[in-house]
Amino acid sequence: MKVIPIAKQAIQLSKKKRTKYCYQKLKMCKKCNRYSVLKEEECPTCGLTFVGIESIVHSIFRNRLFTEAIRILILVCIGIVAAPTVKTLYLSLITGVIFVSSYIILTVTFMKSEYFMVLKKLLRADFRKIQAGIQFDSNLAKEDVKAGKLAPAYDKLREIGDFIYSDQVKIRRVMVLNDIVLRRDMELELESLIPSSYDKDFVKYALEILKINRPLFTKKCIAYFIQYRDAIVRDFGIDSLIAVAGTALRMKLYIQEFSDFIEEFLEYFPKDRFLRLCNILYSNPDAKWGSLEEKAKRLVAIKYHYDPDFKRFVS
Ligand SMILES: [Zn+2]
Repeated sequence: MKVIPIAKQAIQLSKKKRTKYCYQKLKMCKKCNRYSVLKEEECPTCGLTFVGIESIVHSIFRNRLFTEAIRILILVCIGIVAAPTVKTLYLSLITGVIFVSSYIILTVTFMKSEYFMVLKKLLRADFRKIQAGIQFDSNLAKEDVKAGKLAPAYDKLREIGDFIYSDQVKIRRVMVLNDIVLRRDMELELESLIPSSYDKDFVKYALEILKINRPLFTKKCIAYFIQYRDAIVRDFGIDSLIAVAGTALRMKLYIQEFSDFIEEFLEYFPKDRFLRLCNILYSNPDAKWGSLEEKAKRLVAIKYHYDPDFKRFVS
């Protein structure tokens, strides 16, 4: 039976929501008592507007300040009422004023660290609730995938990926991306999606990225391809490894780091790639290239000695 490949969806991915800290994306529906990390402003269950974690922390902080201020005020009042003489009355009044002002000064001075203390306490206390909320978000993404709504599905999985670094989330994102027509102008990621073991879907995605956005193919990605090279050759052929070795020629540092790997595929590189390598080797004669330099020289002598582009490398 012939398997007909399903056509990829041509869609526009939205830009990622950026915050200084990851936790700032957390929000809560006060009615459903459920957290969410998605971009949506309203709760999908009840329609109520989400309250951001920072507002929750601020209100806890405000309430605490208010309670403490009332307590101090009561203490001062008791002091004044219970004062037997006018002198002690003044004394408790002055003590009260000093007490309140130092309380205000201390609170203002330590406001930021106090704020983070309250936040930490809240995150710890609501840990299970946050987990359940992210699970709910994750189910929404699953439903989107089932309904073929890939753009919102990817959007959700990307936000979830900021909180959960598991292979499962990474691969779910990659699988959605593999069903989309990828373009260079899209806000794509690669390094953050590398799983902890060999995964065919990830390699398929990485090879697509190699075609449209080479700079995303970083050192870590090249190292992943080297680590799982046997499986990759089995599933995607040797050309995929040659292409990855070719991308390592982008930077002098990468060439040094992966010189053995590059050396293996030297004769398979297209002329422009090999010329680029020769240029780098030639302009950095003092760098340590190992046997790569020798092998490149030999290849120039055998294959390119008549080529005018390689004239200056022929010794
Ligand atoms: Zn709700």
